[in-house]
Parts: sequence; structure tokens; C-alpha cells
Amino acid sequence: MIELNPSRLRSVAVIGAHCDDIAIGVGASLLEIGRSNPDIVVHALVLTGAGTDREIEEKNALAALCPSVDLRLTVAGLPDSRLPCHWDAVKCELAGFRRSCEPDVVFGPQRGDFHQDHRLVAELIPTEFRDHLSFGYEILKWESDLPNPAVYLPISEDSARRKAELLAQCYPSQTGHDWFDDEAFLGLMRIRGVQCRNRYAEAFTLEKAVLGAATSTHSTNG
Ligand SMILES: [Zn+2]
Repeated sequence: MIELNPSRLRSVAVIGAHCDDIAIGVGASLLEIGRSNPDIVVHALVLTGAGTDREIEEKNALAALCPSVDLRLTVAGLPDSRLPCHWDAVKCELAGFRRSCEPDVVFGPQRGDFHQDHRLVAELIPTEFRDHLSFGYEILKWESDLPNPAVYLPISEDSARRKAELLAQCYPSQTGHDWFDDEAFLGLMRIRGVQCRNRYAEAFTLEKAVLGAATSTHSTNG
């Protein structure tokens, strides 16, 4: 097993279709990464929720998950649950976000997610972040769509519990869902921990990785 050390990151991009996706999928990893990289810049894009209570929830949650790091959050106002009907607008938001940052690593939804908004965002991220290490996070929900992850980020017990606590505190609009509770969030992190020989972990699908030292780069856009 090769360890990729996340302690030397300068910039991370996190992308979600909805307010709470980032916190659920990669929240504990943000706590760990921020702790190891106090000078990091976290660029965050959420495609729906602008101007609603959910935007306030998201701002509070990400501020708590990224304490004392440079957090740059954009919440757009595309229609929740209807993103496939707004393909061009999603693509334009992602393109603008791409121009605003040059991250070492990108976290977004995973391609096998059954929610249509998550899936579209997952499909479009690599069309904008073409030369980037890109991971897909998982969102536990009623649909049986959890992936077999390829990449694990071990999480300390403190960070795992802090993530569950912040989800409960910061998203009062979501706590009524029967899957939105500490047991579910800690349970999935515990399972991913078992799979990487740690107490807790968050796990990710891998979009693409290049091994070895690159001698030249060439990219196209579109
Ligand atoms: Zn979502």
C-alpha cells in the first residue's frame, strides 16, 4: 500500500450539488487536512441553495470544518433536484470555479451516485479539472448506491465525532431525515476505517491518477 501524504497541500477544491454534500462526503477529511496544513486555501463551490436558509447552514458548517484556514465558499442558486435540466448552467458554474483556483486535489460527488444532481456534477468535474487529482466522495442515503472506494483518508476519533456533531448542529433543515444522524455518519466512517485498518476513515472513488514524475504537461479545455 502506498501512502499519499495529505500534509503538504497548498490548495484544495471541494464541490457539492447541495448544501451539506461537502460536509457529509468530505467533512472529516477537511478537518484533518486543515489541521495538517494551516496555510491551505479551501475553495468550495455549492451549486444550489443561494439566498435560502440552506446557504446560511452551509456557511456555518464549512467555517466550522475549516477553522483558521483560508476558506473561499461560493453558493450558487441553481434549482435543487433539477440540475440535469440545467446542464449548461452547471457547466458554466464549474468553469468559472475552475478559473478561480488551481487546487492540488479536487473532491466532488462520485459518478455512481444515484441522485441525478450528484451524478451530473460528478460527470462534469473532470471536464473542467482536466489535469487534477480528483476524488469522488460518498453520500449515504436511502438509495443503495455506495461505491467500492479506492482511496481512504484515515480520520482521528476527534474529527469523526466533530463531523457528526457539526452535521447535527449546522443543518437543522436536514435533521428530520431518518438517515441524517450520528449513528449513520459514524457508522460509515467506522466501516471505511475497518477497510483501511484505522478506527475511522472517509473513503473516495478515484477518477484518475498518474504515477511517476511528469516531464511535460499538455491540456485541452472544453
Ligand atoms: Zn446532495
